[in-house]
Amino acid sequence: MTRLPVIIAGGGIGGLAAALGLARKGFAVIVLERASEIAEIGAGIQIAPNAFHCFDYLGVGDEARACAVYIDSLRLMNAVDGSAIATIPLQQEFRQYFGNPYAVVHRADLHGVLLNACRQSELIQLHSLHRVRSYRQDGETVQVECEDGVILQGMALIGADGLRSDVRQQLVGDGEPRVSGHSTYRSVIPFEQMPEDLRWNAATLWAGPKCHIVHYPLKGWKLFNLVVTYHNHVEEAVAGKPVSKDEVRQGFEHICERAQQIIEHGDDWKLWVLCDRDPILNWVDGRVALLGDAAHPMLQYFAQGACMALEDSVCLAQHFEAQAGDVARALDHYQRQRRVRTARVQLDSRLIGDYIYHPDGAIAELRDHLMSNMSPQQWYDKLDWLYGSSGLEHPGALHVT
Ligand SMILES: Cc1cc2nc3c(=O)[nH]c(=O)nc-3n(C[C@H](O)[C@H](O)[C@H](O)COP(=O)(O)OP(=O)(O)OC[C@H]3O[C@@H](n4cnc5c(N)ncnc54)[C@H](O)[C@@H]3O)c2cc1C
Repeated sequence: MTRLPVIIAGGGIGGLAAALGLARKGFAVIVLERASEIAEIGAGIQIAPNAFHCFDYLGVGDEARACAVYIDSLRLMNAVDGSAIATIPLQQEFRQYFGNPYAVVHRADLHGVLLNACRQSELIQLHSLHRVRSYRQDGETVQVECEDGVILQGMALIGADGLRSDVRQQLVGDGEPRVSGHSTYRSVIPFEQMPEDLRWNAATLWAGPKCHIVHYPLKGWKLFNLVVTYHNHVEEAVAGKPVSKDEVRQGFEHICERAQQIIEHGDDWKLWVLCDRDPILNWVDGRVALLGDAAHPMLQYFAQGACMALEDSVCLAQHFEAQAGDVARALDHYQRQRRVRTARVQLDSRLIGDYIYHPDGAIAELRDHLMSNMSPQQWYDKLDWLYGSSGLEHPGALHVT
């Protein structure tokens, strides 16, 4: 009997990486994407070594590394007095320690690496304008129903359909995500528009009370990515709404002039009100499982949401191969392997926001004191649990260059 395909809801970084991972293990895959085009938004993303380990596993490590900008450091600045708090060097020593670089990439380029590889695979079909609405299963197969009435049959369904996952609503049924009350404004500007004295080869973060600003170069230094966040306690979730510069300026009056000025250099600002969820114990239902933001959406403060989606994908592929067709068992092993690590990153992301990015007064002073006294080696040791792994139980199974 011909084996049925695995159906994946969502053609984001998580969905495409999962498709590629499964196809590399010999499984046929159908990716159903709700949007008219399988694409990413035009902004930057930070990619840590754990994600590059996953790209290597998926066979596209060189392509992913080729579109990245290799920043020299992660820089933390005090946005109130303009002083440098900490610098984590990312050069040779870092790469040797973790086996891969830390880099910044344009989202479309990174997504394009996965999309190209999926398009080249005979085992992967990609369908846009297909919104997955619901599923039914009978112990042998899964029936997936799309919004337009199309019904597909598969051996499994993977819900990689993001923060407001339809698959999650049926599987977990926990309603809307938690609105953090943090507003994030994004802008991508030409290199020349960034003031010369801030064209640093670093992912720089200016941390201030209830606010922070991030900037880094993109696309072979042709662009700069600006991200400005204000903890203004808004209660309504927003995604990608165009806003005026006046709106972005609000809430940054108390930080130093140099950091404030960064906002002035941005154009075409767009707003996201950040959401996440609490970790949950179960995201598998028989032959159906969640992946990436659908399973464990997190605030962006650890810059790990996409990295975790990539790790999920290699873990899923590994268990599909190991369980040789026992789908329910493979999915159960997958979630048991991923749950603790992703819960830790979800909760750490909130803590980083509260205690590193946004504190005031004595907590900010403590942050400055502790972080400014750390050596590069101490930083590397502290980050080893995260960057040194790919989330696989047996990291030896990875091909790390
Ligand atoms: C401001 C900001 C900065 C960030 N920075 C970083 C960073 O530096 N590093 C990092 O690793 N992460 C970062 N992240 C997180 C990262 O963007 C996400 O974790 C990641 O994109 C999740 O990928 P995904 O594939 O799980 O979901 P998504 O990217 O949301 O993809 C889901 C896809 O599913 C589609 N879809 C939705 N519903 C359906 C349906 N019912 N049927 C079919 N298709 C559907 C959607 O159209 C979409 O294409 C950041 C997030 C934000 C908000």
